[in-house]
Order: sequence, then structure tokens, then C-alpha cells
Amino acid sequence: MTAAGTNAFPAASPYAWRRRVTHEVRVGCIGIGGANPIRVQSMTTTDTLDTAGTVAQAEALARAGCEIVRITAPGKREAENLGAIRAGLRERGVDVPLVADIHFTPGAALVAAEHVEKVRINPGNYADKKRFEVREYSDAQYAEEVARVDERFRPLVRRCKELGRAMRIGTNHGSLSDRIMNRHGDTPRGMVESALEFLTVCEDEGYRDVVFSMKASNAQVAIQAYRLLAAALVERSHEAGYPFHVGVTEAGDGEDGRVKSAIGIGALLEDGIGDTIRVSLTEDPVKEVPVARALAARYDTRAADAVPEDPGAAFVADPFAHARRATRAVASAGGDAPVRVEADLGPAPPDAATAAVRVGEALAQLGDLACEGLGVDAEDAEQLAAATALGDALRKRGVDVPLAVRVPASLSADAAGACDRLVVRIADAADAARLRDAGAAGPIEWSFHAEGQDLLALVDEALDGGARPDFVSVCAPRPVHAVRLLVARLAARGLADVPVVLRHRADALADPERALLAAATDLGAPLCDGIGDVVVLGGFGGPARDVALAYRVLQGARLRTSWTEFISCPSCGRTLFDLEETTARIKDRTAHLPGVKIAVMGCIVNGPGEMADADFGYVGSGKGTVSLYVGQDCVVRNVPEAAAPDRLVDLIREHGAWVDPEPAPEAAS
Ligand code: SF4
Repeated sequence: MTAAGTNAFPAASPYAWRRRVTHEVRVGCIGIGGANPIRVQSMTTTDTLDTAGTVAQAEALARAGCEIVRITAPGKREAENLGAIRAGLRERGVDVPLVADIHFTPGAALVAAEHVEKVRINPGNYADKKRFEVREYSDAQYAEEVARVDERFRPLVRRCKELGRAMRIGTNHGSLSDRIMNRHGDTPRGMVESALEFLTVCEDEGYRDVVFSMKASNAQVAIQAYRLLAAALVERSHEAGYPFHVGVTEAGDGEDGRVKSAIGIGALLEDGIGDTIRVSLTEDPVKEVPVARALAARYDTRAADAVPEDPGAAFVADPFAHARRATRAVASAGGDAPVRVEADLGPAPPDAATAAVRVGEALAQLGDLACEGLGVDAEDAEQLAAATALGDALRKRGVDVPLAVRVPASLSADAAGACDRLVVRIADAADAARLRDAGAAGPIEWSFHAEGQDLLALVDEALDGGARPDFVSVCAPRPVHAVRLLVARLAARGLADVPVVLRHRADALADPERALLAAATDLGAPLCDGIGDVVVLGGFGGPARDVALAYRVLQGARLRTSWTEFISCPSCGRTLFDLEETTARIKDRTAHLPGVKIAVMGCIVNGPGEMADADFGYVGSGKGTVSLYVGQDCVVRNVPEAAAPDRLVDLIREHGAWVDPEPAPEAAS
């Protein structure tokens, strides 16, 4: 059975959290999948022939909480040296399992299997060469190539089985073989087909110690590919599935890298998909560990949710392809409008004049980023008056941003006309009944505070009264599942086109990084499902910060681009320059080009393939030299590193994608 026939959502239910069922794969002393917690892993960036350096970095990773360490093995010498690295670690009392990372060199894989607990192979380049050739394969030619793959791969499977080693079949979006690309395109489906060809050989040998990955730098593609593989494995066998290693490749660094990783990895963990994770940052790999830990921690003790009744319609037309949910246009949101960004100011401030000054100053810091709405909460008549006063004070200061006021349903009749959008909180049946009397002086948002079966009951009660919302939102401990359930029930009740507001407030008690990751997951997962017309973020330190972070999430989900998109690899033992420093240098020159995608990749072996859909590529080609790419074409070869950033800027200019940066504002005297 192939992936081609799959169409069912891979998790038990899209409306309740359940971890995907898998068998356990042992990697030395660590178990992946089954009843084990989500494992955290990372990869060394040292030269694999530098035994002392690699031992030291692997030890630092293990001591930081990394449970499995991957090390590149570009050739047989490096693969052989994995034995010395392993021995060095054991001498230091570190028993962290090691994984050899193999690309293009089956011979190195066989050597590595002798020394480490797991071997990662990339189906795109294990036996196939990648020349970016476009050609037609007849069925006979295709079958011939598959047979050649089988012949080269089978010895590794047999050896891993004999030695009790695990294997990762690690497909990457950017490095599909020419054969797969020509038949299936650069698609999630191609990624799945590529992996399944290798699984066929494993299963033929009775070898099941296999973990899969389906990584991409585009979070949407990664989500679709993992879902598709999960569904394909169910079709292939009704037994428990194989564990998945989940990650987003080339996520970059800093906040961008964390946001993008949280969107892709978090969305999959929300689906119950993911038994081990790696966050790929262009930073010291030790810094990846707490980020991965924080992502996994949300699910470590999560119990399976009760599955609500079938809402009567699907939440999304196709879970394996991104399409934005079609909604009607209301007050500049929904329809064809980009996802709007609003800041949640929290409770209406008692001193409206002072608050308006502060908000005005904060929004002025945003430069080209537009705050497209503000929101406050009003719990009683006094706060409602304060909210109205804030709206007046903002207008007086020339802050022309629509104001939404969120009130309990008991206050909704009084609040009509007090703001640009009335947000009515609906927490129980009495609230739902009051919607009949809610004012209709402007757009009204129904904000449900419930999830699961209770949410379905509340939506029905609200609609049965005859009133209809202009917007809907949901606030719940499991917001990703709740919003899916909400839109599915609305669709079943003939309201498939009501725009959805995605709301998130930072957990005041969480540390800032955890709060950031939670926001990116809870907003990014529905956005990648195509759900969301307005994003409202609050609690991150003021409206400027809230708005900027919301735009970062939209960029990470590839829905609204505000900055240059950087795709940079995390680096590894193949890296030919200081990737962190080089990426910072390139960013410094090019960060003002919204819509342009620039890849910074450490090596010519994998870089060109892995940078997938970048517009321009900066790729290490030798010691001290760089090659530059436009799309997938290498247009400048082996330029000295010192001259490469200027040459890259020239290329961007020649291709019409350059604009001069705004001069920096003069420092206030
Ligand atoms: S692209 Fe970067 S991470 Fe990938 S193999 Fe090359 S140097 Fe290593």
C-alpha cells in the first residue's frame, strides 16, 4: 500500500489529544516510542575527527539533558572514529547513545553501525545521487533504480539487525532524490514515498527498529509530511506504528528559530505525533536542549483527552495540504484580507489618558509593522466606562486603531456601541441565552470558554437562540483542539465562513522562553491548519512586543511576511565556516528585505539540496570559500569568504530583490 490512498486524519481524533501509538525502539539505554516520554536529542558541530572536541561537546549536550547525540560521519574515517568518541564518553562516565549521521556514503554507514547505537540514513541520498536532473522515468527504469537502492541498503539493514542497532530513515524535504522528485515532485507525498521504499527493505528483513523523520524548513510542509506518513503507516499495517523523530530543519537562530520550531514541532506534538524531537538552531547545540525540553514538557504528563462526539463536519478540507479556511469579510478581517494582528492590553486601565500615551508610544516603536487592533477586558460597568474612555483618549492622540472590548455576557447589552468590536465571553448556558439580547451596534465576537463536549453544547445553545456571531474565538486549556472543534461544529450548523479570532495571553508564571514557545504552538498550529483570521496576543511585555511576536508567528507559519526569511542550517562536523557568526553577518546586511528567502548553509554536500525553496543561497564550498546560489542554480563559485556578503548583495540587486535599508534614526540628544 502506498501513501497515495491516504486521506484520513492520522490521530485518533483531531478534537482530543492522544499520543500516537507506536512500538518501542531501543537506542542503547534509551527507549523511543511506546510508553517512553518524548526524548530530546541534538547534534554535535565539531569535526568528527577531532575526538577530544567531539567528546567534550557530546558530554556537554548530555549534561544539559540531551538524551541522544548525533554525530556526522561524512566518510569511513569519521565513521571509524565514532568508536574512539564513544570510548572517550564512556571513560568519562557518559552513556548517552550516539547516532551516526550518514549522507551519500553507504560504506560509512556500515562502519558506523559497528560503533554507535543508531544510524541515520537519508533516503534521498543513500544510494541515489542528486544532480537536480529533470527527466522522465519509465516504470521499468524506476523499478531498476528501486532495485539498486535495495541492493545497496539491504546490507546495512542486515548488519543493524545483527548488532541490535536502531536506524532512522530520515527524509528531508530539500534532499529528495531526482527519481522521487521527477515522479512525485517536491512534495510531502514524495517524502513519504521515499521513506516507504526503505521501510519495505527493512520489513522484508524482519527488522523493525526503525524511527522515521520527515523534516522540512517550512513548518507547513513538515506537518503535512509527518501526518501523511502516519496515515500511510496505518494503511500499510494495522499494528502499532513506528516511532517518529520530529523536527523543523534549518529553523535559524534566536526568536525566529524558536518560533518556527515551536510551530512545526508543537503542531505535531498537538497531533500526538512525535516520540523524539530535535530543535535545529544555528547556535551552540547545547542551547537547543532547553528549547526541546520545554516543547516536550507540555506533553510529558498530559493524559489522553476524552473524545467528544463527532461535530458533524470536518474542521479542514484536507489535513495533508494547507488551504486557508474560506471566511466572509467582516470589518477588514476574513475574506481575502491577510491575518490581522491585534494586541491584548488586558483589563481596561483606570487612567485612560496615561494609558493612551503609553500605547501610542509603544505602537510608534513598531516601524513598518501595523498594530491592526487593540483589545481590553471590562468585567463591570466601571471598567466598561474605562474602556470607552480609553477609546476616546486613543482617538484624541491620533492612535487610529480599532478597539475591541471583551465583556462577560451579563454586560453585553450595556457594552453595545462602546467599541469597534464587542467580544462576549460565553462560559455557560446562561451566557449563551443572553446572546439574544446582546447589542448589535457593531461586529460581535462570541468567545467560548469551554472545550470538548461542553464546547459543542455551548455552541449549540448559543446558535439555537437565533443570534449569529460576526467572529468566534475559544479560550481553553487545549486551544488547538478546541478551535478545530468549534469550526467543525459551526460548519455543521451552516456557519463555515465565520472568521476566527485566535487569542493567546502569555502565562504570567511561565519563564519567557516557555511562554514564547507556548504562544507559537497554540497560534501556529491552527494557522498551519488554515484556521485564523485575526491573531490577538497579550502579556509579553506591552503592545509593541505582542504585535511583533504575532508577526513572527505569522511569518513562521508562512502566512504573512514582514522580514527577510532566513533558512540557516544548525551546522555539524561538515561545516566549513562559523555558521552562527556568518549568519549574523548576512542578516545584518539583508534583514530588511521582506519576502526574500536567504539560505546560509554550512556545506556544499547537503546545503544546496537542503535549502529547498530559498531565493538566494550562501553555501560553504571549501575552507574559506563560499558558493552563491540563485534558487537551485550555483551562479558564483568559490568566492573568498571575506568578499561573499558583498557579492550576495550584488546578486540580490541584480535579481531585482534589493531595496536600500532605511537610514538608522539619529540618536536622541
Ligand atoms: S547543510 Fe549544514 S547541517 Fe547539513 S550537512 Fe551541511 S553543514 Fe551539516
